[in-house]
Amino acid sequence: MAGPPAKPLRGSGTGRLLPVESRARDSSSLARLRRVGREWLRALEVATRPVPPDLERALARRWEELPKAVRTPAQAIGRRTAGCEGTHGVFPRCDFACTPCYHGREANRVRTDGAHTVAEVDRQMAYLRDARGPGQNAQLIGGEVTLLGPEDHAAALLAMQRHGRKPMSMSHGDFDYDYLWRLAVGADGRPRFDHLSFAGHFDSMMFGRRGVRRVRREADLHPYRARFCEHFRRLERETGITHYLAHNMTVTPANLDQVAEVVRDCRDMGFRMFSFQPAAFMGNASRWKHDYREVTPDAVWAEVERGAAARLPCDVFQIGDSRCNRTAYGAYVGNRWIPFLDDRVPADLAARDAFFATFGGMDFDASPALLAARVVRAFAARPAGLHHGARWGPRFVRRAGGPRVLLRGRPSPVTYVVHNFMDARVVRPAWELLQRGELAEEPRVREAQERLQACSYAMAHPDSDALVPACAQHSVLDPLENDSLQRLLPREERGSEVSSGERAAGD
Ligand code: SF4
Repeated sequence: MAGPPAKPLRGSGTGRLLPVESRARDSSSLARLRRVGREWLRALEVATRPVPPDLERALARRWEELPKAVRTPAQAIGRRTAGCEGTHGVFPRCDFACTPCYHGREANRVRTDGAHTVAEVDRQMAYLRDARGPGQNAQLIGGEVTLLGPEDHAAALLAMQRHGRKPMSMSHGDFDYDYLWRLAVGADGRPRFDHLSFAGHFDSMMFGRRGVRRVRREADLHPYRARFCEHFRRLERETGITHYLAHNMTVTPANLDQVAEVVRDCRDMGFRMFSFQPAAFMGNASRWKHDYREVTPDAVWAEVERGAAARLPCDVFQIGDSRCNRTAYGAYVGNRWIPFLDDRVPADLAARDAFFATFGGMDFDASPALLAARVVRAFAARPAGLHHGARWGPRFVRRAGGPRVLLRGRPSPVTYVVHNFMDARVVRPAWELLQRGELAEEPRVREAQERLQACSYAMAHPDSDALVPACAQHSVLDPLENDSLQRLLPREERGSEVSSGERAAGD
């Protein structure tokens, strides 16, 4: 007797029974498909998390490491970011001479070497990725970055990006458009980057800038500042590569009274951040020209406020120790600088707390779809954030003068920063004692230790499995590193010990 007609196997499409091997093959393909589907869903789940798990762990670790005194509601380290990062021991040479200069004399005896730089940057960034998670800001810094050929410079930036860093090149800004073009665009004519970040250091204590042998006043440098910004605007017009530009300036008793002028005159040039560094006794002692300690962070901040014609609330967000950093976030609407959050408004402080709680270290720098998914998940987990965000918007509009004013002049974000490096004479004992696990008795050294422990600007030492604050790097470790780099990468050109900048400075 014939049995019941065989049911066709789902998916065979033939209506006929498949041989045993075919059925096995089919079910293993199905299993593979299911596995791929599960993996894809899992990857999607992780990618749309507001904060990736490794960054979450790194932030929690950093928060625990901070001294208790700086774990304030305003503290961004350990909540929003693990801190800034910088390279070291890569290209210490510079063709300018500045007073002061944070590099020792021996830095200029080291050859700028692309292969060494790229390999070392790769190593340091891999360590940082491991220790601090993805999405952190990292500075490609040493001596002068544009002494690297454009290919090597690009390779170093790409290595940083590969390790999840957001690189910023730190330069004296004295380079031609052609250099920027060759950095940004590959030999095939295609842009290598979507976006570039640069910090240009401009101040009247720098010697060596082409076309301006001696600078009498900060204003003499305005055409050079504008030219620097124009390079990036042109690059964007020609290639579509967007940019973020920061303006760095060292402040000494000689130019303190010109800080306000720089802030005022350079406001619309295209810089998104103005960072002022009161000079410190660090690096090459033959370049110390004034009593730098006459210039206090309070005095610099007051000048920045005078230039911005606004009160700059620096207590809303604290970046590490407030003796090291002050930061004010806001935007120009027309001629007025408006803070995003005002420390005198309790609802703004509540919005800040909600921002930390809702978004934590979330990276807003993502494709629109990914960003939307992250934002939805963040608000779904903390709906209170939505309430604070919805109430903050109208407050900002009112502060800016109302919707009509905002429509007339699109807000243009500008951040003001003062970063107050420490003198080598206190950093050295503070760091050495910390390495032995000891706290200093002497108040100034103890203060330096507290600041080092809360440091927001670190450099990676993969060999010793350590992150080193930039103050300790420059004051203690740079001289030793430069010594061994001199042997590894000696400069070969005859008569090259003195750069044009040093000649201009009369070193
Ligand atoms: S580098 Fe120095 S001044 Fe800057 S945050 Fe670190 S300890 Fe403070």
